[in-house]
Amino acid sequence: MAAQIINGKALSAEHLAGTQEAIIKFKARGIVPGLAVIIVGENPASMKYVANKEKICQSIGIYSRIIRMPAHTPQAEIETTIRQLNEESAIHGILVQLPLPPHLSTLRLLSLINPAKDVDGFHYQNSGKLFYGLPSLLPGTPKGVHEMIKSTGVTIAGKDAVVVGRSNIVGKPMAIILMNEDATVSVCHKLTADLKAYTSRADILVVAAGKPKLITADMVKPGAVVIDVGITYVDGKVVGDVDFQAVSEVAGFITPVPGGVGRMTVAMLMANTVEAAASIEAERLSSLG
Ligand code: NAD
Repeated sequence: MAAQIINGKALSAEHLAGTQEAIIKFKARGIVPGLAVIIVGENPASMKYVANKEKICQSIGIYSRIIRMPAHTPQAEIETTIRQLNEESAIHGILVQLPLPPHLSTLRLLSLINPAKDVDGFHYQNSGKLFYGLPSLLPGTPKGVHEMIKSTGVTIAGKDAVVVGRSNIVGKPMAIILMNEDATVSVCHKLTADLKAYTSRADILVVAAGKPKLITADMVKPGAVVIDVGITYVDGKVVGDVDFQAVSEVAGFITPVPGGVGRMTVAMLMANTVEAAASIEAERLSSLG
């Protein structure tokens, strides 16, 4: 096996340890960073993700509140909950677990979150700041992928980067982060005519399509950094979008699934919660004069 494994478990533990140190300093000032998670309905994957977030919050000292709402909850009721959380001083981060039931407007709900508390980085104000290269709360998955690429020591500037997938939560912000780092970025999607023509010239390949084994060894440039964001359950097992065994023989660096990007996504959410708490508390102090 030629490729070095980018170990999401170890890297996320490092990041969580740094976040925990920051929390200890906050607590010495009487501040406990707080995260509220709204989950609507009982999507099994969402329930699992939310339980995991709660567990990690508890393990590093973030106050967490899970707000469980039935699948048929009207839009107005969720909007009221978000408005209340926006005002609550114990809550520094608000997250609406996606996907939502189809009767709800995801965009409207995400847009109601106070941008300073938008720890998922999905509010258009935070997307806009990312677009302009301004500091902002970044979506956890692309932020985590960026950290994983940086951990390899490979320079991003000037490289050919290919992002497979153009969703608002992974592909698009990922492409902008890589552009902001001076990579030459191509974004592929399900209608891309010749995917291999793009992937095989990528020095950095980020795959977020949700299609198991979409990326095979012949589609990867020797020595490339390959980041597999995909999560699909096949026969009860989690698999990524990359044919891990075969691609490992060609790539320079590769992330495993599980034990890769997923771990970093949660670690970045925790970091964002503490970052949000820091700015909100600094703002509060300055408003007191
Ligand atoms: P999505 O369904 O919103 O978007 C998928 C994207 O992949 C689309 O832009 C689509 O055009 C593209 N695509 C689909 N089939 C393709 C093909 N054959 N060739 C090229 N492009 C193709 O999904 P998403 O929310 O962006 O998530 C993508 C994957 O990443 C899913 O498996 C999801 O579970 C996973 N995910 C993982 C994490 C994590 O923390 N590891 C976080 C978010 C999403």
